[in-house]
Amino acid sequence: MYKINLYKTIFYFFLVSVLPSGAFAQLKLQNLKIENLTNPMGMGVKNPRFSWELVSDKRNVKQTAYEIQVSDGKNMVWNSGKVSSETSVFNVYQGSALQSNTKYTWKVRVTDNQNNTSDWANANFHTALLNPTDWKATWITSGLKNDTVNGIVPMFKKTFDVKKKIASAIVFATARGLYDARINGEFITDAYLTPGWTSYNKHLQYQTYDVTGLLSKNQNVINVLLGSGWYRTQLAWFNNQNIYGKETALLFQLEIAYADGTKETINSDNSWQITESDIVFSEIYNGEIQDTRKSGLFQKTAINPDWKQAVETKYPTDYLIASENEPIKKHEHIKPVRVIKSPKGENILDFGQNIVGWVKITPHGKLSDTVRLSHFEMMAKTGAPYFDNLRTAKAQSIYIIDNSGKAALPSILIPHFTFFGFRYVKVEGIENINLDDFTAVALYSDMQPIGNFECSNPLVNQLQKNIQWGQRGNFLDVPTDCPQRDERLGWTGDAEVFSRTAAYNFNVNQFFSKWLKDVAADQADNGAVPFVIPDVLSKNSGRKPVGAAGWSDASIIIPYNMYVVYGDTRLIENQYASMKAYLNYMRTAAKNDLWNTGFQFADWLSYRVDDSKGMIGQKSAVTDNYLVAQCFFAYNTQIMINTAKVLNKTEDVADYEALLVRVKKQFQNEFSTTSGRLISETQTAYILALQFDMLPEALRPQAVERLVNNIKSYNYHLTTGFLGTPFLNPVLTRFGRNDVAYKLLLQDTYPSWLYPIKAHGATTIWERWDSMKPDSTFQDPSMTSFNHYAYGAVGDWIYRNVAGIDTKDGDGAGYKEIIIKPQIDSGITSAKAILKTNYGVVSSSWKISEGKLALEVEIPANTTATVYFPAKNPETVTENGVKQNLDNNQFIKIGSGKYVFEMPFPDRKL
Ligand code: BGC
Repeated sequence: MYKINLYKTIFYFFLVSVLPSGAFAQLKLQNLKIENLTNPMGMGVKNPRFSWELVSDKRNVKQTAYEIQVSDGKNMVWNSGKVSSETSVFNVYQGSALQSNTKYTWKVRVTDNQNNTSDWANANFHTALLNPTDWKATWITSGLKNDTVNGIVPMFKKTFDVKKKIASAIVFATARGLYDARINGEFITDAYLTPGWTSYNKHLQYQTYDVTGLLSKNQNVINVLLGSGWYRTQLAWFNNQNIYGKETALLFQLEIAYADGTKETINSDNSWQITESDIVFSEIYNGEIQDTRKSGLFQKTAINPDWKQAVETKYPTDYLIASENEPIKKHEHIKPVRVIKSPKGENILDFGQNIVGWVKITPHGKLSDTVRLSHFEMMAKTGAPYFDNLRTAKAQSIYIIDNSGKAALPSILIPHFTFFGFRYVKVEGIENINLDDFTAVALYSDMQPIGNFECSNPLVNQLQKNIQWGQRGNFLDVPTDCPQRDERLGWTGDAEVFSRTAAYNFNVNQFFSKWLKDVAADQADNGAVPFVIPDVLSKNSGRKPVGAAGWSDASIIIPYNMYVVYGDTRLIENQYASMKAYLNYMRTAAKNDLWNTGFQFADWLSYRVDDSKGMIGQKSAVTDNYLVAQCFFAYNTQIMINTAKVLNKTEDVADYEALLVRVKKQFQNEFSTTSGRLISETQTAYILALQFDMLPEALRPQAVERLVNNIKSYNYHLTTGFLGTPFLNPVLTRFGRNDVAYKLLLQDTYPSWLYPIKAHGATTIWERWDSMKPDSTFQDPSMTSFNHYAYGAVGDWIYRNVAGIDTKDGDGAGYKEIIIKPQIDSGITSAKAILKTNYGVVSSSWKISEGKLALEVEIPANTTATVYFPAKNPETVTENGVKQNLDNNQFIKIGSGKYVFEMPFPDRKL
């Protein structure tokens, strides 16, 4: 035994002396990303940024140097050499110009402050078409008479022969409309609703796919379905159809490289054929009708006498952009939990979760001529399905069936170019419902899930789940207000209030980066930002966009939030002109720095007495529109100061700093008495005034008192709308009333965050505090969604204050410098959050038991953290039994590693 160990030791020392220093490295690299994506196809950025995570089981690890090499398969196109730097996130490519349609491999190794060098870690990326002249394909359209907004979906077909051995085959595809492409019957992608939704009149995304494995020797067939999608089906109201054009079109370029070094390109042109597909109607709001008797066109051998010649058409290619965010994909597959019989005898499936997507049927048994699924969110208390809140949206999948017995039944029924927001589905046309035959499939942008929160209170855990489901359902390439009714638009205000919470749950850096380009593209010349992006409202209303506080300033607030949480400086650089233009718009709208004219949504959907019978005798909580606007004017100005500082725009900093002083002064003149009483005695008024430092310091304590008294007067209920809610608990915590913040979080009667869960078993966040009222009747059906994420903005406070994970901004942005600061109060005895940052996992977990508090913290390599302790008696904090010396009696600074801190925690009612 002794001998074996001795040999082992000798062998170890032998290896250490012979192998390069990285071979036994305690330092590893993982999660190599380029522009936030793992091995992406279709990289359209000419100077992309490289990121990696350091992994080490040692504490206090920092990168001291890195080395990156990039190769195009033949030559090294960039060798950074060894660069002394701590930067492991967003290192900019500095090699020779990247070429279109080329696979690059890259590798990186780093050295740390403890003299370890990692092994090389490898990844790759494949470039898109980097120059407009790379497009050789021609736009084609079906030319069919009934290929209209209310008509059929055409199918395109191209057959071609492959005679030689293929080295690679890459497709570049897009549509004015939505495409679903297959080669030899196989999908070329697992993405849905491609090419996604952008402001199509400004720019259109295309996608890049590696289809090498799909081609075969001899004959090959490409089939593409071309749906109307967001391009031309009705969006918003007033019969607002054909917004971007009446005709859909396809652009498809397949570049084949043969093993012998030759190349061939299969381009869309008039050699392609077209016919009517089995989809006879397809819309975003109303759904889809499929005539399954016409199915089978995807087969390689499909013969159809009706194939006609596709029509070439002249649309530009110079407005095409490579996709930059994650595509929409299928995610959770959910089985129905039960079938319900309505009083009318209707069969209703309950999937137990409000989701966005559609239902897959694997039909068995007897079907009628028509199988119809109608999707909806809620059951009325009468036991009937509730469709009214969908407004005009039919939200149906309809399948026409040949049940004569002559043709085989389709093995699967799914829609293609539509989606629904639903928990329940009414089924018609299937006699015996077998739950196994139905699966609800959740569709959403394929953002990486990065955060989670859990605590000792099950209702709060359900709230967290509901916030995440609200995000899944409404992050479908564009951040939408709701996914079910005839709306589903990129409402700026909703996205703005939720953006910081969203960034905790999923990595939304690419998602927002793409959408913010549309914000800038749709911005008016005077800087006004339309209420919805892509802007589908201005055109048909004939009105020029105007700015509204809390909505249009998504153009300023979201870029800055993305910078703070991901450290993405390029994003604010890219958006800076748009941010500045919107601030200028506000300045012009505000005479003498007081914004008191024009339309405002203000504190949208705040508590109103006649909304519900829940709280008889209380007054409505209506905050003056312009008080709200002035606070947001200041908020935006402050962000512009911060942003200009990061970007070294010194002149702007000075200008905005002076402006901010005047904006606050005007606020005090117009909306506050000299003693600090505000013209609106509402929670939102005091919250906004405190959050944005609108009152002189001396007047802030009385404002906090008024806020708390107001909350007490509603018996510890919130009354805030869209703009007050995100800052309600943060303000209470900041000003020492965390106890009240906890009471509001844990309140479970109307109006509160937990009321929909406790009273009605909600599985998503609702549009209104009482979308369903305490007496189980519904709010006004003209605006009552059960999947609206805005009030879920409390998620930010939950992560930041209950679990206590936050980032510094400035140099510490993107969790380079982490703050751990849990705020503990009555009602919750343990909480835990994890967050996968660009540096690796941060976690904070605390638990109170037997008079002690344990706080477990994980800090990733290459970062530092400041940990604040909630102990009443800070000198009692220990780590691993060792007493900690706290700075200012409050916090310690730590490097990477795992820590367990302990401290006595005085008994209190928990
Ligand atoms: C949307 C909202 C949006 C609001 C603005 C509604 O129809 O659903 O969430 O922010 O309009 O007025």
